[in-house]
Amino acid sequence: MIGYDIDSVRSHETLGRRTFMTVAASAAAGVSAFSGTASTARVNTYSSVYTTSDLSVRTGPGTGYSRKAVADQYTGGYVVGGPQNADGYTWWKVRYNEDDTSGAVVGWSADDWLVHADFSYPATGTVTATFYDSRSFGYHSAVDIANDRGTNILATRGGTVNTVGWDGDGYRNYIIIDHGSGLQTLYGHLYDVFLSEGESVYWDQHIGDMGSTGNSTGSHVHYEIRSGGSRQYVPPNENSGGNYYYARSGVPKEYL
Ligand SMILES: [Zn+2]
Repeated sequence: MIGYDIDSVRSHETLGRRTFMTVAASAAAGVSAFSGTASTARVNTYSSVYTTSDLSVRTGPGTGYSRKAVADQYTGGYVVGGPQNADGYTWWKVRYNEDDTSGAVVGWSADDWLVHADFSYPATGTVTATFYDSRSFGYHSAVDIANDRGTNILATRGGTVNTVGWDGDGYRNYIIIDHGSGLQTLYGHLYDVFLSEGESVYWDQHIGDMGSTGNSTGSHVHYEIRSGGSRQYVPPNENSGGNYYYARSGVPKEYL
């Protein structure tokens, strides 16, 4: 039902992403024990985050609460509550990306294995094309996230607007934002754009509306992350179901 072949993605070594899974008694054994040094301030309220290890998702902020799921290593999400201190840990309530059509999982995790993501995804929707999908020019080198026309497109990191562009048969209405250190993001096929070149933007700012302009067969955003001008791997939500992303969810990869 989703327009890409997950096996072709899996074959690439750069995909360090595993699926989110509902916990089973046998699965809990391999999850990181809650031990180690006290966490630094890597996470803030409303952060876009991802997990650096398999991480328990509990029904409340403490080890005494039951484990409702395990967020596998490199699962993206965003903080919706906390912090709460209990049992020597700092706990955050996180909405994690879903792995099936049953919906995202929301629960509490200790932040030792939860880090602030460098980027988030720009829109809520279904992933319809992934990085390694082939195109006439080679790899697609971006992710496409589809939703209704007019869906909010949010800046995936703070920065300065480099380009508000129009090209006749490609991205059509598009935005490029500079994030410093040679990093840029591009948002294509937009229906509407609310920015001017040189303007400052903050993370999560509503910068445009989703559309289907240019070389596009349906309403979606084409999202690229570039470093020094070259397109960087953007992981899809590796699963067999709904492939929903959330606009504020962390991209589970470090680019710096
Ligand atoms: Zn695309």
